[in-house]
Amino acid sequence: MEHPNKAEAHHTHDHAGAKNELTRNERLVHTVLEGADGPLGAYAILDAVREAGMRSPPQVYRALERLQQRGLAHRIERLNAFVACRRDECDGTATIFAICENCGCAREFADGTFDGFVTDWMRDNSFAMRLSRCELVGLCLACQPPS
Ligand SMILES: [Zn+2]
Ligand SMILES: [Zn+2]
Repeated sequence: MEHPNKAEAHHTHDHAGAKNELTRNERLVHTVLEGADGPLGAYAILDAVREAGMRSPPQVYRALERLQQRGLAHRIERLNAFVACRRDECDGTATIFAICENCGCAREFADGTFDGFVTDWMRDNSFAMRLSRCELVGLCLACQPPS
């Protein structure tokens, strides 16, 4: 089913639908990300898919690009690494990560109040935003020293 416009397509976004459209390479990369304990760098991903026949970095980067466009994976700038999205309603355009600088885990979440604040600011300041990505850096519960 085709949606008449992009806005509506975003509105009805779901991961199951997006997964059905993946190519073999995209599926391979997505499976690796889904099975990982935390964010993975591009070369770790390349290592993991090499046996399945994906040998060139551009193939991996292309697959990562498409997965991000579909909201199935995100790039975490701080770590220069990628994670599978685990929020089914996420379309990849507005995401917050809580990143632990000790163990490197990254928890994804979203917040309607925060999104509303950002949307208002964009409108008031005539900024055409493409992506909202907030990275919170600190220590996860497991890595905090006992108090
Ligand atoms: Zn997401
Ligand atoms: Zn940690």
